[in-house]
Amino acid sequence: MRPTYDFEAAEVRRFLKHHGAKRAAIQLPEGLRPHLAEITAVFGEVGVEAVVLADSCYGACDLADAKAEQLGCGVLIHYGHADMGLPTSLPTLYVEAHMLVDPLEAVEGALSSLGFKRVGLTTTAQHITHLPGVAELIRSRGAEPIVGKPGPRAKYPGQVLGCDFGAATSVSDRVDGYIYIGTGEFHPLGAALATGKRVVAVNPVAKGFKVIAPSLDFLNKRKAMIARATACERFGIVVSTKPGQARFKLASALADAFRGARREAHVLVVDEVQPEKLCDFKLDAFVCAACPRVPIDDAERFDRPILTPFEAGVMLGKASFEPYRLDEVRASDFG
Ligand code: SF4
Repeated sequence: MRPTYDFEAAEVRRFLKHHGAKRAAIQLPEGLRPHLAEITAVFGEVGVEAVVLADSCYGACDLADAKAEQLGCGVLIHYGHADMGLPTSLPTLYVEAHMLVDPLEAVEGALSSLGFKRVGLTTTAQHITHLPGVAELIRSRGAEPIVGKPGPRAKYPGQVLGCDFGAATSVSDRVDGYIYIGTGEFHPLGAALATGKRVVAVNPVAKGFKVIAPSLDFLNKRKAMIARATACERFGIVVSTKPGQARFKLASALADAFRGARREAHVLVVDEVQPEKLCDFKLDAFVCAACPRVPIDDAERFDRPILTPFEAGVMLGKASFEPYRLDEVRASDFG
């Protein structure tokens, strides 16, 4: 069954009319692309030309306002992510596309094997509207739901991103473990690594759950990656031009640190970090100062080691491997 979403047609109509847009750019992540006809129907109704920006779009970090302007669009509508507060050069509406699948049945199924009473609640923007209902269910079963305040990149209490686990860490000393509502394992793994606590990941679409804890296998793989990089001489520090991934200050500091350790280092700038864009450089290893997910999710696509900034610090003897942390994006990385 294909999940259904709230595409907020009334709000989109109001926004288009309010700005008197003739041409509007649309950005949407892969998961929403099968719904394009449903999404664009409202544009046709109000006589606005919809320009679909079909390059990849993994997060609100990838705001394409400059591209939309270049195409003569008066407004941009960004689907599938919550506003992370990036500046934009033209009126921008975020349609978070909340998933209409009710997670309560799946949460109910997980509660019997929870094994803890003080429950931190985390999720992504797409399930955020269900958090109060989940909290009520947990309370009715005699446990205490606790929702953390948003981290620097998140908009809502309880919301985590692949680059910001602040909503989990902000309550880590008050909870025994977490329930995460959503699909995929990256976010719950990040919350588990950031807090050192068990995360029960409840999948409202598949209606199942899985207990996520940092596996030895994962940590060993990352340790092996650092060991391979340690033997390397020439490093590419990769940074992206996407506005919310353009961590040039971090990239430049990393390059300095490698040079200080008598390694060759070059800052490489790409739009999207992909192996085929980097493979021709005579470099032995990479450090990703763009999206934190790339070195973890895509490691196997690279023929050379690719480290996170934290792992680069471990390799250079500036940080200890334990406790292992996934990379999180901070305001101080930019500039
Ligand atoms: S930087 Fe990566 S993890 Fe963060 S919002 Fe963008 S795509 Fe998601």
